[in-house]
Amino acid sequence: MVEIISIDDIPVSIRGDYYEVLVHVAEGKELTEQEVRLLTGQTDIIESVTVSSGYGKGIILYKMSKPAGHEWLKSLEQKESVTCIVCLEPVMPVLSSRNIKVPFNTASELAGIGKKKKINLYDAAMLYECHRSSFPEEKVFHMMKDIVVLLQESVRKGLKGTRYSDRILGYQSGKFEKARKKGNLIDAGLMNKIISSNMALMEVKSSMGLIVAAPTAGSCATLPGTLIPTADTLGLDQDDLTKAFLVAGMIGVFIANGSTFAAEECGCQAECGSASGMAAAGLVQLAGGTVEQGISAASIALQNTMGMTCDPVANRVEVPCLGKNVMGAVNALASANMALAGIDPVIPLDEVIHAMDETGKMLPRELCCTGLGGLSLTPTSKRIEENLERKRKAKSIIP
Ligand code: SF4
Repeated sequence: MVEIISIDDIPVSIRGDYYEVLVHVAEGKELTEQEVRLLTGQTDIIESVTVSSGYGKGIILYKMSKPAGHEWLKSLEQKESVTCIVCLEPVMPVLSSRNIKVPFNTASELAGIGKKKKINLYDAAMLYECHRSSFPEEKVFHMMKDIVVLLQESVRKGLKGTRYSDRILGYQSGKFEKARKKGNLIDAGLMNKIISSNMALMEVKSSMGLIVAAPTAGSCATLPGTLIPTADTLGLDQDDLTKAFLVAGMIGVFIANGSTFAAEECGCQAECGSASGMAAAGLVQLAGGTVEQGISAASIALQNTMGMTCDPVANRVEVPCLGKNVMGAVNALASANMALAGIDPVIPLDEVIHAMDETGKMLPRELCCTGLGGLSLTPTSKRIEENLERKRKAKSIIP
């Protein structure tokens, strides 16, 4: 998730969730509030207008739910004070809107609805997405199913092996699969398949293949790497998987609302910890569990990852990220089973998310993805960093 917060030192907020028109106003030729209002009145597609200009120079940012009309843009162009107009397309698949009303924003609100309406996990997730996007159920389902298909393919590709020179780790999942099939590993059934799938996805990520940042690129393996092999083992199909991914996404919404997915702000608990909580709820959906069990599973998983630091080796998202994704996946499996068995998480999910956020704020910046602490500073990490840099430079010299 990216936010542009300033252009030419003028504060803006652009998140790729609208069609945006940036109107640059000339120095010394301020566009007055009255003119802004006048321009706004020329079209009915504008969602909101932000005037970011001080006297003399500035940007007017128009946020819209549809592309700007040609005539309207032309009328803007003719304004003496307008020096430049930039139209931006949204990058998010679901746009924002000023009037969005969602049925719940927190886990406790969901639990309340669950009890009142006897709703199941998937129905709740679908209800949320339909309100958030204004899309019909079928469209929401197919958008998620496309993601599931893509991720299944990425797991297959990763297991076959990927090639990419500029990385720390090579083909790991193949080594693990070989040992698993030979019976050289401690027999952990589904758990070992989950480890293979996580490795496969991390390798695809490190070789610049297709992954889904769910919730982030560094933690991209935990969720699909857990749900896909579990669905296979349980004999479930792509539709079942799609429902589980939607449920996992719903837990992601609670985390995004109450905290962050950014390791730079809250350490790896926000990345692999969040992915683990999301996966735990997705697993409960695959197992046919209830809303209460799904929320409990996420709560347990997040409690177990509280305070996890982010200290990537050699400034690459490979080590300890591979192990942490695997740990998040295994933790999700354990948490889901604990919740399905009726184990009480004691602390409600919303409170755990709040605690995670507070814990993240207490983490020193050295342990929040800056490469200034933990494993990042080990002699081996520094050596790997130098070697990779040397290789990169040598490669760029050779034509
Ligand atoms: S250690 Fe840091 S970079 Fe690696 S997965 Fe965790 S948050 Fe991402």
